[in-house]
Amino acid sequence: MADDYSKVLLDESEMPTQWYNVIPDLPEPPPPPLHPGTHEPIGPDDLAPLFPMALIMQEVSTDSYIDIPGEVLDIYKLWRPTPLLRARRLEKALDTPAKIFLKYEGGSPAGSHKPNTAVPQAFYNAQEGVKRLTTETGAGQWGSALAFATAQYGLDCEVWQVRASYDQKPYRKTMMEIWGANVHPSPSDLTAAGRAVLAADPDSPGSLGIAISEAVEQAGPDPDTRYALGSVLNHVLLHQTIIGEEALLQLAKVEETPDVLVGCTGGGSNFGGLSFPFLREKLAGRMNPTIRCVEPASCPSLTRGEYRYDFGDTGQLTPLVKMHTLGHSFVPDPIHAGGLRYHGMAPLVSHIYELGLVEAESIHQTECFAAAIQFAKSEGIVPAPEPTHAIAAAIREALRCKESGEEKVILTALCGHGHLDLASYEQYLAGQLVDYDYPEEKISAAMAQVPVLG
Ligand SMILES: *Cc1c(COP(=O)(O)O)cnc(C)c1O
Repeated sequence: MADDYSKVLLDESEMPTQWYNVIPDLPEPPPPPLHPGTHEPIGPDDLAPLFPMALIMQEVSTDSYIDIPGEVLDIYKLWRPTPLLRARRLEKALDTPAKIFLKYEGGSPAGSHKPNTAVPQAFYNAQEGVKRLTTETGAGQWGSALAFATAQYGLDCEVWQVRASYDQKPYRKTMMEIWGANVHPSPSDLTAAGRAVLAADPDSPGSLGIAISEAVEQAGPDPDTRYALGSVLNHVLLHQTIIGEEALLQLAKVEETPDVLVGCTGGGSNFGGLSFPFLREKLAGRMNPTIRCVEPASCPSLTRGEYRYDFGDTGQLTPLVKMHTLGHSFVPDPIHAGGLRYHGMAPLVSHIYELGLVEAESIHQTECFAAAIQFAKSEGIVPAPEPTHAIAAAIREALRCKESGEEKVILTALCGHGHLDLASYEQYLAGQLVDYDYPEEKISAAMAQVPVLG
């Protein structure tokens, strides 16, 4: 291929047909989830009220590769394979010798990487006769992805949207409703978990932890209803590996290997999806990229949280999972990257971070928006607030290359567009966006409520 390309495409026939499970390739497996009462490892049956058996088996699978069902591939093909962009104009604007590649996931129906897992989750639920899915949504991206996916298989969909984002992003709600979903602001008075939060703080901006409690509480007792989670769990990260598998093929086409891979981390799914296939290559000695997570400075679960067993939700309804956590009762400041406002990090990403296989850094939101504006001016795409963190980190890396003269290949995921996040850009342009300090006292208070295991 001539060296003047600005994007690398794959044919539909080149699309990977398997997801990659990183667990068998790790030097040791991640610690198991525990039952909140007995503190014993949980088994598949404990999860059956919440998830269909096909997804539970993927959650605990030790197979390296899992076939993507044909019915899922057919829907993936509505927008996949996705393009790998080369940010030549940004490179020029930064005057850097580095090459910057972005795997663009914003062309999906929901505008992010989330449909990569929403579609298989809806598919397996429909196959097992489930009628309705409940879920939470932070930025509205996951709720829209699941609304789209459930519409493909004729399932009902009920979404608890974090209050801060429900108010900031009314059009996300409309989008979910277009696909037939029922949307509630969270905390809501429809659940015991929501009512408890409202009683303590009637103006609560909500959090992903609270919204998860509400959705789980609604799914548990109803045999026709299951719950769907858009990040954090092993099977979600598994489904997202199609991103990295495609990117590997695309970089091979232009004969490049990444030196640095950066990804924004909320619950860890776009990061895991992009990076795990490259981690496989690294562990096998075929390449040696530095792999780095980027998180918001006001919700820094990897860089400032503790690695220990905690609940995935505020209401303590989920199993205990070992992860980097800021405490399940921590309510992050209302930064615009709603998808990054989660108290924990995927157990798998946390484990890999503990093993020293990946690094992490945190960045404040005004630096991220400045990076996004520079990116939009040079490359055209307006990023969602979450991947502005990845772009800011890529720019930091490219500027270091400018200092050192190194011609590094930088790869990141532009995991969503920001067309429904323009209110946050409006605030930034008006000079009204603030950085929140590291919330030390709030985090200490939340950490005091994390269970102490014997
Ligand atoms: C949900 C979301 C995130 C955060 O979730 P991860 O599981 O960490 O990927 C980041 N970016 C976008 C665009 C999202 O929709």
